[in-house]
Amino acid sequence: MTSHVVYPGSFDPVTNGHIDLVERSSRVFGQVIVGVASGHGKEPLFPVEERVALMRQATASMRNVRVESFDGLLVDYLRQKESCVVIRGLRAISDFEYELQMALTNRQLSGEIETIFLMPSQEYVFLSSRIVKAVAGLGGDVSAWVPPVVFEALRRKYSRAPKEVPGVS
Ligand code: ADP
Repeated sequence: MTSHVVYPGSFDPVTNGHIDLVERSSRVFGQVIVGVASGHGKEPLFPVEERVALMRQATASMRNVRVESFDGLLVDYLRQKESCVVIRGLRAISDFEYELQMALTNRQLSGEIETIFLMPSQEYVFLSSRIVKAVAGLGGDVSAWVPPVVFEALRRKYSRAPKEVPGVS
């Protein structure tokens, strides 16, 4: 039995959809550990230290939330945290296949792990970090989609380096 859960992700950057899930988890579980994945093979817009700092600031009001980075296999990180519950988000059907694959892979790697899926509030169902980066990179207003600290970080990033606009695929 565990009362602490791990919510892993890239959070590049954290959006209001992620925050919605952290809030929901923090109401249900004793402690939520947000694990910001440092690697994954994809080149992030924000380095992991900045993604952690932004997530910490955005969740500062939630007393039972801890934010840290992790590297390597999620199952190893869970073992290290003595937790066996992973929180993941399900937005539209499009998330389902990938999330099912990940959940079953993690279960194969470690039989004790359970993945719990939470649905965000309807307004965040179509929100993703990728969309936020694409819109912000083209000068669009993303203030309704991200915490204020992230809005500022995106503004700084794109006013410095306007060429870092990721494509929407
Ligand atoms: P990853 O690279 O691990 O998919 P993300 O940062 O994109 O990392 O997402 C982390 C988790 O948060 C995933 O389970 C994803 O489905 C979920 N998530 C992302 N955006 C939202 C959102 N708008 N509402 C709810 N869950 C979300």
